[in-house]
Amino acid sequence: TTTVVLFTRDLRVTDHPALAAAAAEADRVVPLFVLDTGILASRYAAPNRIGYLVEALTDLRARLRERGGDLVVRRGDTLAEVVEVCRVTGADRVRLSADHSAHARRRVAGLQARGAEHGFSVSQHPGVTVVAPEAVRPTGGDHFRVFTPYWRRWEAQRRRPLLAPPDEVVLPDAVVPGDLPAWHALVEGERSPEVLTGGETAARERLDAWFEANEVAGYAYTRDRLAAHTSRLSADLHFGCLSPAEIDARVDRRRTGHESFVRQLCWREFNTQLLAANPDLPYAELRGRGDRWRVDEEAFAAWQAGETGYPVVDAGMRQLRREGWMHNRVRLLTASFLTKHLYVDWRLGAWHFMDWLVDGDLANNFAQWQWVAGTGTDSRPNRMFNPVTQGQRFDPDGGYVRAHVPELADLPGGAVHEPWAARDTLFAGVDDGYPAPLVDHAEARERFLSARGR
Ligand code: FAD
Repeated sequence: TTTVVLFTRDLRVTDHPALAAAAAEADRVVPLFVLDTGILASRYAAPNRIGYLVEALTDLRARLRERGGDLVVRRGDTLAEVVEVCRVTGADRVRLSADHSAHARRRVAGLQARGAEHGFSVSQHPGVTVVAPEAVRPTGGDHFRVFTPYWRRWEAQRRRPLLAPPDEVVLPDAVVPGDLPAWHALVEGERSPEVLTGGETAARERLDAWFEANEVAGYAYTRDRLAAHTSRLSADLHFGCLSPAEIDARVDRRRTGHESFVRQLCWREFNTQLLAANPDLPYAELRGRGDRWRVDEEAFAAWQAGETGYPVVDAGMRQLRREGWMHNRVRLLTASFLTKHLYVDWRLGAWHFMDWLVDGDLANNFAQWQWVAGTGTDSRPNRMFNPVTQGQRFDPDGGYVRAHVPELADLPGGAVHEPWAARDTLFAGVDDGYPAPLVDHAEARERFLSARGR
């Protein structure tokens, strides 16, 4: 028998249930990835993510070759390509990891319909999450809207055993692997200059370093420090270069820092089950705010460019472009600034993030944007962060801001968070080229609260 393993965002050989089942049960295996022309033509295909994707596919191909196999790469419509590969290789089964967006569900339904027509069966396997969204449901409801009860139930779920990579992958004779194009042949635009390398090999090095250096021990404290190091595994998880179940199993819940780290992994799954239950989460408000967003193209452009005059906001927006990544707390602050200080629609901001984030993810990005905008699951939708005091609290010596906003590099310590004060005193008359605040915090707060009816 011949089985096709359709890779999607599970680009690894370690702990890959669909690949392991195919290697154990079929005589021949066709590991397949389709560069889907529909996705490539959409805004979802940002250079930073396509760059990571190509690196991950290159690495996956090398790992499959080490096992006697290869990665078959096709470009076109996923369903049509799967049908064609099954026809050429005589495959009677397609295995893939279950995924939870509307697109992923349509893909499976399409595969099942084609399979019925062309004589192959379709099996879905775990692998994208630790716990399947449908495995944890509240009494009387279909999904959780509040994190803490979800977290308790998620922690209590039994874990499946982890799977080693298959020793051998035997390809059928008829198959032609196909070339893997360079990322810039797939999408127009620029990648950020300081992105991390993609693929299972690089991801595993990051994971090992994170646990071996025991950085996780300080996580409960450092996760909010803007200049400190978090795991940087988000893109690896988004593309499935690491198995979330493997990370979950490596966490030792009795040791300092580990529980707060695994809670963040659980947030990822909380967001996934929100998306599974609300397929239109990326554009429809979960809890309509009912107020009108402001249209302000100039302010939006200043926010995108990191020119708002609020140092911590600008540092974050510039880090996003430079690294294709932003610190979690700064994602909160920049998103809050756009939706509450500037009163601009969260969807515009969320898509700007998607244009640059290597880890840009339908569930995490859009659920978090809705949370910040007050249209999602936050129980305090009217909270508004003060970018100055937040900067002072989480970047007390100003190192994060100075690293990303060179105009302020001469300001000492925490003074970077209030450049206007320094200009009145220490640096009177010096033009550092840094803009004045786009809006006054107190006025913006007043506007937001009165529009919300307090
Ligand atoms: P760590 O702090 O080391 O956390 C470990 C892992 O836990 C992360 O890799 C990630 O998979 C998960 N995680 C951590 N925090 C969160 C969270 N708040 N929600 C969900 N999962 C979390 N994360 C994405 O992966 N993709 C996105 O597109 C994305 N967009 C976001 C947009 C906004 C407005 C906000 C506020 C947060 C967003 N996040 C997103 C969540 C979070 O900021 C990133 O996962 C995190 O900063 C990634 O860095 P890290 O891997 O070093 O995280």
